[in-house]
Amino acid sequence: MAEPTSLYIHIPFCRHRCSYCDFNTYAGLDGLIPEYMAALRREAAWAGQAAGERLPVHTIFLGGGTPSLIPAEDLALLLETCAQHFDLLPDAEITLEANPGTVTLNSLRALRQAGFNRISLGMQSANAVDLMLLERQHDTVDVIRAVEWARLAGFNNLNLDLIYGLPAQPLERWQATLETAIALQPEHFSLYALSIEHGTPFRHWLERGLVSTPDDDLAADMFEWACDRLEAAGYGHYEISNWGQDTANGRLACRHNLQYWRNLPYLGLGAGAHGYVNGARTANLRGVRAYIQNINTRQAGRFPAGAAVESVVQIDRWTAMQEHMMVGLRLLEEGVSNHGFQQRFGVELGQSFPRQIEYLQKVGLLEWAGSENDVLRLTRRGWLLGNQVFSEFVDQEQPKP
Ligand code: SF4
Repeated sequence: MAEPTSLYIHIPFCRHRCSYCDFNTYAGLDGLIPEYMAALRREAAWAGQAAGERLPVHTIFLGGGTPSLIPAEDLALLLETCAQHFDLLPDAEITLEANPGTVTLNSLRALRQAGFNRISLGMQSANAVDLMLLERQHDTVDVIRAVEWARLAGFNNLNLDLIYGLPAQPLERWQATLETAIALQPEHFSLYALSIEHGTPFRHWLERGLVSTPDDDLAADMFEWACDRLEAAGYGHYEISNWGQDTANGRLACRHNLQYWRNLPYLGLGAGAHGYVNGARTANLRGVRAYIQNINTRQAGRFPAGAAVESVVQIDRWTAMQEHMMVGLRLLEEGVSNHGFQQRFGVELGQSFPRQIEYLQKVGLLEWAGSENDVLRLTRRGWLLGNQVFSEFVDQEQPKP
């Protein structure tokens, strides 16, 4: 049987574009939702049939955008289509990203019944000033209600997304946000430092001096504080930005995202979705109308090149090795196993990246760990300087044998 794969399904609709957002999402296109959902079902059916065998799927992630804007019955239909055309494993993790304020007890009940078993809520902050600056459309009462309803609907795997490092956000305000979030007892946390991207209103405000530049040192203090606080609250820090609750049955990590960090295959469905299948990286057209039109009228190519694909890039072995380091080193405990690397690429880590490993060890950002010193991973100091570490592994010449 083929190795289990994952499905990422993109929902590019939002009520309003938040000030910091550079995701592929659009406000004011809700009228296209029915056509878009029909196109998604078509793409999912094509991918399932074109794969050549019934692909076992162990995680599905509906991300966005705001997937919770889609009527629950349409989401149920989409899951049904996936189950028809893929071998959806009985214990599959099926996540829906949701914004507080866009769910009701009834919609969550319908989603749970349809098979979704994990909800990821975009809480971002528990502070009204932060939420206003981010132009989020909800308040903390919406978050509390959404969590309560999710529990009542039977969801026992819940993630909260939070953002720190905002302009003029004092440490205490971040601490209060995290305390409010911990009190809601989610199974998982994703914490992101605010990143101010080109083309966003936030960048524009910054350039015009309307907001102050975020303080990187303060953001680092916020991260450090969160690491300690979440550990004390029983959450295991398994990826730079992610924590899962430690339970008697193991850690509640996000299995879907582990697929990315372990550099394993996934299909990307929907406008602008990316996939990694049969050693090729795929990217779909970003525009909603273009996506729908291509799915409805264009002939699909050879799997994984669907009708809405914009690019298919076959990844050569050396690039795959570099990518493996980039994503794998994000996993703080698991890191990159030398044994696993050798099994996959037929060569040891030390032979592939001798200079980088030696240098990064010397400056205290990487270490060998694990019972047989088989695992290369970031040191605690390296957690904060991950991008510096990853950049050492990309765009490098392959060492001569
Ligand atoms: S809700 Fe999320 S995806 Fe939508 S605009 Fe805001 S940040 Fe972007």
